Amino acid sequence: MLLPPLPLLEPRGAPEARAAGPEILLGQGQAQPREQRGRGGAEEEEEEDAEEEGEERQPRGRAGDMAGGAGSESPEAASAAQEAAEGAAPRWGSQHAGARELAELYSPGKRLQEWISVILCFSLMSFNFYKLLFCLRLEHAFSIIVAILAGVITADFFSGLVHWGADTWGSVDLPIVGKAFIRPFREHHIDPTAITRHDFIETNGDNCMLAVLPLAKMAYKLVSLPPEALYQTCPWECYVFALAVFATLTNQIHKWSHTYFGLPHWVIFLQDWHIILPRKHHRIHHVSPHETYFCITTGWLNYPLEKIGFWRFLENIIQRLTGEKPRADDMKWAQKIK
Ligand SMILES: [Zn+2]
Ligand SMILES: [Zn+2]
Repeated sequence: MLLPPLPLLEPRGAPEARAAGPEILLGQGQAQPREQRGRGGAEEEEEEDAEEEGEERQPRGRAGDMAGGAGSESPEAASAAQEAAEGAAPRWGSQHAGARELAELYSPGKRLQEWISVILCFSLMSFNFYKLLFCLRLEHAFSIIVAILAGVITADFFSGLVHWGADTWGSVDLPIVGKAFIRPFREHHIDPTAITRHDFIETNGDNCMLAVLPLAKMAYKLVSLPPEALYQTCPWECYVFALAVFATLTNQIHKWSHTYFGLPHWVIFLQDWHIILPRKHHRIHHVSPHETYFCITTGWLNYPLEKIGFWRFLENIIQRLTGEKPRADDMKWAQKIK
């Protein structure tokens, strides 16, 4: 049975309503409006809870492995079995046809790129941190605090920009970048819990890669500049360092926002105080058609950017210039049934 086109379930400009409303639509294929799905809200909430429990119960491993061996205790598998019995394809989760295909596209070459990126990034980060400690001065305290805050906000903005770009444009069929960098974004919308089964390397590899060049440039400055110049540039370097650290950790923070069991207390504390992306806040993005709340580092910019219609503004310009329809590829994958 073919699924109907993805409807716009919530009116734009109402993120608060999405947050306040039931969270069951999140992360499911969202192929049908709630009323048409023929199941009660309470029932769906139970399914959501089960899904979240499933994040903890399921064995750790590749989403591709999950497709074949999730086990009968997996709520996703149970959901798929139920859907199969009803003669329908799963609308979300690791059993979704699109999710299975996307998970299989994770290649050894991609894995190697992630390993190299993680090793380089964390080596440079440790080196720069050690070097930065020597240029800190008390009289710079205020500007360094402002610099760190600005770095965190910039990281949040870039997380939104990259996430929006990859969610909204391009296709998995694009040469090189499609499978390597757009694929994870498509997978995440139709199988949002897959990220909780990704290990540290897969979760953080791409962000580490983006941070390597700025961190390398910073390391070069920190070893080559004379002490006086280093002292002058210290607040700026703190800005770059905070930006690099938060950009690097963005997908780890994003993974935590999808994790409902076994999180360390300090992570929950940071989420509760909205120092990093809170779980409930990120759920707003996961309402189909995934068109707002793209910032996933702290999420601080999500509300103001939504209020000024920032993403819609960019999409209108690009659509007018290129004729491309926003999220066309994302919807194609969500509707895949075999
Ligand atoms: Zn997204
Ligand atoms: Zn997410």
